[in-house]
Amino acid sequence: MIPGVPELPEVETIRRQLEPEVRGRVIARVEVLDERWTRPEPPAATEEALAGRRIEAVDRRGKYLLVRLDDGATLAMHLRMTGNLLLRPPGSSLVADLMESERLGAPRLYESHPEARHLRARLVLDDGSELWFTDARRFGHGVVLAADEIDDYLSTRLGVEPLSGELTPDGLCAIAAGRRAPLKSFLLDQARIAGIGNIYADEALFRARLHPLTQAGSMKLEHCEDLVDGIVATLELALEMRGSSIDDYRDLRGQRGGMQDEFLVHTREGEHCARCGETIRRVVVSGRSTYFCPGCQRRLRARPRRRRRRVARR
Ligand SMILES: [Zn+2]
Repeated sequence: MIPGVPELPEVETIRRQLEPEVRGRVIARVEVLDERWTRPEPPAATEEALAGRRIEAVDRRGKYLLVRLDDGATLAMHLRMTGNLLLRPPGSSLVADLMESERLGAPRLYESHPEARHLRARLVLDDGSELWFTDARRFGHGVVLAADEIDDYLSTRLGVEPLSGELTPDGLCAIAAGRRAPLKSFLLDQARIAGIGNIYADEALFRARLHPLTQAGSMKLEHCEDLVDGIVATLELALEMRGSSIDDYRDLRGQRGGMQDEFLVHTREGEHCARCGETIRRVVVSGRSTYFCPGCQRRLRARPRRRRRRVARR
């Protein structure tokens, strides 16, 4: 089963915690412990690009965390499925223990500190604190992009940012026009709307009363209005709850989020819908578990292709 992976609210929660802690700090040195983290770049190139740089800001775009550096470069990190960032304060015993165990070559220490077992990269800051990237499944990664590379890198991967005010009902209708993909898959496509994953797609569609198998292009303006409202309300509540911790996600301080207790449909198969009382169902869409209420989430009729052609000819 695919775990509840970090989405916009989880990454933004980390960003909000991280920025005040690291802004203005110099990265003393970097240790990449897993070459997959920087692939296709060799770890040494990434370590070298980061060492000695001052952190100017920490931004976010979609599910990317962007550490802005004083030479104009950006460290872009993606947590993927099971990545976590942890900030270890200066002189924390775990860091000291780990360094000691490395010196002694004693992997046994990991058994008492499970987060250390999945350590993939560590940034040592000039005050002695350490930023750890841990990742059990190893799909997360970090890439250093030069000032003239970052915009292209992000714009080819990411569409509209849903909480920026750029996501309007008209804009959503334009993005969805002609798309025959089910709404659930449409919402997961980062190149159209950035930051939404499996959890918040289900919650947003429930709020909008739209069935996940509805074809995206069959929405009319009123549905796009409902869906924008559903997306924004879902993401804002999740931010307030500091994200969802179904499986691995923890915030910068290792704390669980609280959004999993607020889910209206996600993971609620067999429970009663809070809005209409119908039993919540689970289906699989694009290989992802999808939860919805068959009682109050409408499946819109696909717009016939014939009529669209006739309009185009006029
Ligand atoms: Zn319902």
